[in-house]
Amino acid sequence: MNSAEDLSLSNSPNRKVIVAIDGPSGAGKSTLARHLAQHFSLLNLETGAMYRAFGLKALRAHCPVDDPKALEILSTETTIHLEPGEAENRVFLDGEDVTGQLRNQIVSDAASRVSVFPVIRAWMVRRQQQMGESGGIVMEGRDIGTVVFPNAEVKIFLDAAPEVRGMRRYEQLGQTGRKPEIQPEEVIRELRERDFRDRNRADSPLRPAPDSVLLDSTDMTLEEAVRAAEAIVEAKLTTAHTNS
Ligand code: C5P
Repeated sequence: MNSAEDLSLSNSPNRKVIVAIDGPSGAGKSTLARHLAQHFSLLNLETGAMYRAFGLKALRAHCPVDDPKALEILSTETTIHLEPGEAENRVFLDGEDVTGQLRNQIVSDAASRVSVFPVIRAWMVRRQQQMGESGGIVMEGRDIGTVVFPNAEVKIFLDAAPEVRGMRRYEQLGQTGRKPEIQPEEVIRELRERDFRDRNRADSPLRPAPDSVLLDSTDMTLEEAVRAAEAIVEAKLTTAHTNS
């Protein structure tokens, strides 16, 4: 196994490697990112959790999630902090640990809506760039390889068929004791809606970076997807070291 020390780059020794993982909801990004972070001794940063935290803040403040001006004002009164953990990131909203409150349908919907606005994205991207500036991270989201870290050494675009992603999300909610009252079909429908918004927004739409490696996990087990991703990272790092 490589350690983060081994993964510093000889052409920029003060900056360790950045692994960017992008893709739609339920593709398995979080699981994959967690495994890669453990395997390569990197920090794992989940940017979706930041949009979720801000969605929660808007809901709590009764701020309309479709009003960019009101959201911009709210953002100036908001601090969001991620702490990488073994299982998932701990998320602090204005100093309060809100980790357990972010993975329900209402917050998911709010996160998806607030994330279309350029002013909110710019604020989040700045924060994410600060958090990852020294490298040594796996960062996952929708725009990491295209906008947040276009110079990341490794970019993986993880995808899967919508039905498969919807079922995974439904099962995930069950495992965490947060199974929704609704049926799997409803989870799949909402996931498609959020996907549509992510892929069609004017600012930083979800799309693979031209230099990303596509990984379709539709017919893969978790174990297979993890092994494939590890191989992608190993291959990219070998090339980066050879060329530097
Ligand atoms: O990844 P996750 O499902 O937790 O993300 C929540 C929402 O935040 C997504 O539906 C997406 O709209 C938004 N998001 C984003 N850009 C990111 C990460 C998440 O727009 N980098």
